[in-house]
Order: sequence, then structure tokens, then C-alpha cells
Amino acid sequence: LQGVAAVAMMFMLLHILQTDAAERSELDSDLRSALREEQFALHYQPQLDSNGQVVGAEVLIRWQHPQRGLVSPAEFIGRAEKTGLIIPIGRWVLRQTCAQLRAWQDHPACRDLRLAVNISQNQLRQSSFVPEVLAMIEEYGIDARCLELELTETLIVQDVDDLTRKMAKLVERGVSFSLDDFGTGFSSLSHLKRLPLSTLKIDRSFICDLPADSSSETIVRTVIALGQSMGMTVIAEGVETEAQHRFLVDHGCTQFQGYLFSKPLPLPAFMTFIGNTVQARGAVA
Ligand code: C2E
Ligand code: MG
Ligand code: MG
Ligand code: MG
Repeated sequence: LQGVAAVAMMFMLLHILQTDAAERSELDSDLRSALREEQFALHYQPQLDSNGQVVGAEVLIRWQHPQRGLVSPAEFIGRAEKTGLIIPIGRWVLRQTCAQLRAWQDHPACRDLRLAVNISQNQLRQSSFVPEVLAMIEEYGIDARCLELELTETLIVQDVDDLTRKMAKLVERGVSFSLDDFGTGFSSLSHLKRLPLSTLKIDRSFICDLPADSSSETIVRTVIALGQSMGMTVIAEGVETEAQHRFLVDHGCTQFQGYLFSKPLPLPAFMTFIGNTVQARGAVA
């Protein structure tokens, strides 16, 4: 009987593995057709300064799947990174972002808006990455100071010399860099000092327990002080409550992003949001 059970178990496991593999390859082929059939879209999550003025947005990819509906990046970015599809997808995101910046640069109200794009490790590892970004900036004729690239700490433990060189070439042209999800990885302070980063983004996991949790408070205060002392802008992500916002303002954080202000929005809604905040400030003044 034990033998039978063992064999049954083996078949079950095999079935699960096969189903997994089948689902993965379906996802892969769906991702490939998504690129061809332009099923991706960009959403924009406003980033505000302490006066409530929108300084820019983080660009977040969305996938409108013909059967599954809107799929979040959490469900496909990891897989796209493994298969290498992140390269063409990331290129598409950058191109769309440059086109958007181009469109804004002729409008006085939008001219200074900065867009922050998430960059995956394997994108930056490509030797063609820097020349490609530089070429896009030229092609669209955009002010490179409006383009920010978000890197994560996992990316930085790689070849730091190579990374520093690549970043420096883009910084020289005016592009800025931020360190995303700060505090969740293992970046050493010496890397932080060496890399030409202009912004630290405090991860949502430290913000969500503010202000009740004393260890989160300590971490957040320390990160803000660290950023300030290194001359970096500190931005808090995932700000959801007034109490969190107040704590951050009181401790010197100067930029904010989160559901308290707005979820990531499709372009028309983002434009309306900018219009409304401009109006609200006008009413206050
Ligand atoms: P991320 O770069 O850390 O982006 C912030 C995530 O937090 C976004 O999730 C955003 O919708 C969410 N968020 C913002 N404010 C709040 C809040 O107040 N509360 C809560 N609960 N969540 C908030 P999203 O859009 O699902 O993206 C998830 C991750 O996928 C991103 O994390 C980023 O790592 C990756 N990603 C998104 N777009 C791209 C892309 O174009 N390229 C690459 N390589 N990765 C991307
Ligand atoms: Mg990000
Ligand atoms: Mg983040
Ligand atoms: Mg995060």
C-alpha cells in the first residue's frame, strides 16, 4: 500500500510541475504577444512636495490582458526578468516615457514634471543600455533633467565599478537616479556614497506602521537624516494616512507618493489630478 501511495504522490507532483511549467510558458507567449499587440499601458502615480505641488510621477506598467483583464506588474515583471523579455518591455516603457516628456515640454504647466522609470537589473547590465537611453533623449529632444531612473538595492550589489561608470554617463547628460525600496536590500553605505544617486525612496514597508511602531519610526527618521546628510532628496512611498504624512513632514521628508494623494492613474486622470492640485493651491493662495 505504501508503494502505491508513493507512486500516486509522484504522479501528483509531476502533474503540479507540468501545470506550473505550462502556465509559465503560456505567460511567456502571452507576454510576447502583449508587446506585439500593444497591450501594455503606463500609469502615472503623482509625487508631491511638502507644498502639495506635483513634482512628477512614477511610471508604472500595466498589462491589459485580452482575457484576464488588468494584470499587475507583480505578476509578470519577475517572469519577464527571467526570460529576458524585460529588455524589450523596458525599452518600450522608456520610449513611451520619453514621448510623454516630449509632449509635456511644450506646455508651461507640465514642462518641469519629472518622470521616474523603474529599471531592472538585466536592463542595466546590457552594454547597450546607456547608449540607448542617450539616443532616446536625443531623438525626442527632451530635457534629460526630467528623466529619473529608479534602481533597487539588489542591482547595486553587482559590479559596482561598471554600474558607477554607466550611471555617470547618464548623470553627465542630466539624467538622475533614485534608489527604490530603500531599506529592504543590502546596499552598503560605501556604495551609497559612491554612486551618483540623487534620491532615496523609503520603502512602503517602513511607512505603513508609522507612527505607532517605534522601530519603523526610528528607521524612517534615520533614513531621512542619512539622505539629508548626503545631499539627497528623500521620498516616502506608500503614504496612505494623514498621520504618516504628518510624521514624515515633521521629520524632514520633502517628497511623498502614495494612496493618500493618489493611486497610479491613466494619463487623462493624471492630467486632471494636476489641474485640480494647481486649482486647489490657487484657491489657498
Ligand atoms: P515599486 O517601484 O516599488 O512601485 C511602487 C508600488 O507600490 C506600485 O505597485 C504602486 O502602485 C504601489 N503603491 C503606491 N502607493 C501605494 C500605497 O499608498 N499603498 C499601497 N498598498 N501600494 C502603493 P505596482 O504598480 O503594482 O508595481 C509593483 C512593482 O512592479 C514596482 O514596485 C516595480 O518594482 C515593478 N514595476 C512596475 N512597473 C515597472 C516597469 O515599467 N519596469 C520594471 N522593471 N518594473 C516595474
Ligand atoms: Mg519604483
Ligand atoms: Mg518602490
Ligand atoms: Mg516598494
